Amino acid sequence: MISLPPHLEMHDNRFAAMVHPMSTLDVIAEGFTWTEGPVWFGDHDCLLFSDIPSQRILRWSEREGVSVYRERSGFNNGNTRDVQGRLIGCRHGERDVVRTEIDGSLTVLADSFDGKRLNSPNDVVVSSDNAIWFTDPTYGIISNFEGYRSDPEQSARNVYRLSPDGELKVVASDFSQPNGLCFSPDETTLYIAESGSSHDDSVPAVIRKLAVDGANLRDKGVFAEIDRGLPDGMRCDTFGNLWSSAADGVHCFDSEGTRLGKILVPQVVSNLCFGGADGHRIFITATTSVYRVFVDVRGAEAWVRGRG
Ligand code: MG
Repeated sequence: MISLPPHLEMHDNRFAAMVHPMSTLDVIAEGFTWTEGPVWFGDHDCLLFSDIPSQRILRWSEREGVSVYRERSGFNNGNTRDVQGRLIGCRHGERDVVRTEIDGSLTVLADSFDGKRLNSPNDVVVSSDNAIWFTDPTYGIISNFEGYRSDPEQSARNVYRLSPDGELKVVASDFSQPNGLCFSPDETTLYIAESGSSHDDSVPAVIRKLAVDGANLRDKGVFAEIDRGLPDGMRCDTFGNLWSSAADGVHCFDSEGTRLGKILVPQVVSNLCFGGADGHRIFITATTSVYRVFVDVRGAEAWVRGRG
């Protein structure tokens, strides 16, 4: 019988090789309101994450702890990096997707579709062809807590793809509230969280699987169901396992959707990313805090893998 520390819950023996009996769940930052959008910058040895209601992006490093990276972030939520390593963010307040240039200036990449404002871009991923894929639920406009209250102009809560030449197209339009998203390591599958149960109990709390066919998606049905709360941010490791946020922590699924285990976190988890020393850490944004835990796998995203 393998003995694991109390923050690790094994549902399948394969999970034991992905964690470690001496791992700890460390709080590395706390005192925020609703943390989200973790993204690792290995080239700066630091983590960036959002505190949406306080309109800040924070920076954490092992050496320097927490500092403010950006004030008045426009209720920035999800973050990622493009192929050039630039920060790509979703702003509820501005209702746009924005890129931070090397000189620090901001370039708005998308703020409307079909002549109407986006709802409130939530989370974003970049494929290796530098296309930007993002979700557009209404969480940032249903109150003034995470944005500015407003009526949606879009008729649906879409998932969009922004091509490198600037063409914005809808790639999925049948979600109640699309939320976190991530690619499988080979980018043949895009996983998208359905978090509509936050406002409608009849919507299942599931992660859906969509086949990527160039610039299009093909629905492959439900990948996995979240048994505590709802799915939000997600990341894949290099083996194709999917790590998803949930109310009780981070749930790990194999590529077939079998739950292998959980990292139990004492606060509701919003998102996660891989990073840290040799990429063997998961950083978890959870309500008022950010947690870090060792894992014996690495993230599938290029900036986490680094030279590996
Ligand atoms: Mg989200």
